[in-house]
Amino acid sequence: MTHILRIACFSCGAKYPAETIIFECAVCKGPLDIIYNYEEIKKHILGDEFKSSRITHWKYWPFYPIHDLSRIVTLHEGGTPLIPSQKKGYYFKNEGLNPTGSFKDRGTTIEMSHVVEIGATDIACATTGNMGASIAAYAARAKDVKATFYIPTFASKIKYVQIKAYGGTIVLVKGTYEDALNRTKELRKKKGTYLTGDYPYRGEGEKSVGFEIIDQLGWRAPDAIVCPIGNGTLIYGVYKAMLELSIVGLLDRMPKIIAVQAQGCSPIVKAFREKKKTFTAVKSPKTIASAINCGNPVDGVKALHALYDTHGTAVSVTDKEIRAAQKLLGREGIYAEPGGAAAYAGALKLGLKGQVVILVTGHGLKDPFV
Ligand SMILES: [Zn+2]
Repeated sequence: MTHILRIACFSCGAKYPAETIIFECAVCKGPLDIIYNYEEIKKHILGDEFKSSRITHWKYWPFYPIHDLSRIVTLHEGGTPLIPSQKKGYYFKNEGLNPTGSFKDRGTTIEMSHVVEIGATDIACATTGNMGASIAAYAARAKDVKATFYIPTFASKIKYVQIKAYGGTIVLVKGTYEDALNRTKELRKKKGTYLTGDYPYRGEGEKSVGFEIIDQLGWRAPDAIVCPIGNGTLIYGVYKAMLELSIVGLLDRMPKIIAVQAQGCSPIVKAFREKKKTFTAVKSPKTIASAINCGNPVDGVKALHALYDTHGTAVSVTDKEIRAAQKLLGREGIYAEPGGAAAYAGALKLGLKGQVVILVTGHGLKDPFV
């Protein structure tokens, strides 16, 4: 059972029936969003039983666009710990503890369950590594799904090893993440291949980071949630989770959403400073944090909306600041990859006060030699 009403373009508002298989708006190429019937969702989350049940990704199923819960593709993602920092008021949401070592598994369980529902058998993905590793693992679980990965050559070699371990096919692309993305789009045109990646179904799964944070804090919002931006899908997912919990009456105020990008790849931070609703892509992005090295964020416009709507802010951090944050996290017992430490670097740079949740998005073993 799902409570989807339709798919809508976030940029121009074009509407598509719920069952349409679509990756970007056919009118303006803008990012899509999934629209639900919240009155229906409310019926499934009433009472203390929902609130107090064990925290897992699939606990929040009424908010996902999946019809058949008996056929979901899962590796028991989510339910990651929210660890208090030695720094007062700070908490780390340790996403490195997901099945493939990053938050991507939350999106992938939804995306791959959808792939199985629609009977797709051939999928492609552009990835700097973490998404690929996650999709490769879940494609292996799904059986009969052949997955091909287009990876820019700058991505960490360790990540290819992980993708290969799950049986994925790898095509290396000389160029940027966007070049790799264009290769998958060509494949879709030519062969009808299903595209996995930062598309609407994945975003719906990444909402669970937000649901869990609120649940773990006893159904109360922190003052701020700090999130790194690669494609902007995660930060919008966290924002949408807050919005949805507010709509159904489980949250009484929105936390500030705060975005962090690497200085060598910060189109959203620049747009935010200039108070713009759209952004200019960075042609040659450069940072040690390969997981957030996306110069033209697919969901950048949605990310900006999340910042404005919650009175949040955006900050860029240097590679040096990322390394320093990574070291500090290590001293608290958390080993994060550079992209995974970026949010902490941003929180420290801004000197955030109050109750602050920092998303540590990927495990350090993902990228140990940078
Ligand atoms: Zn559009």
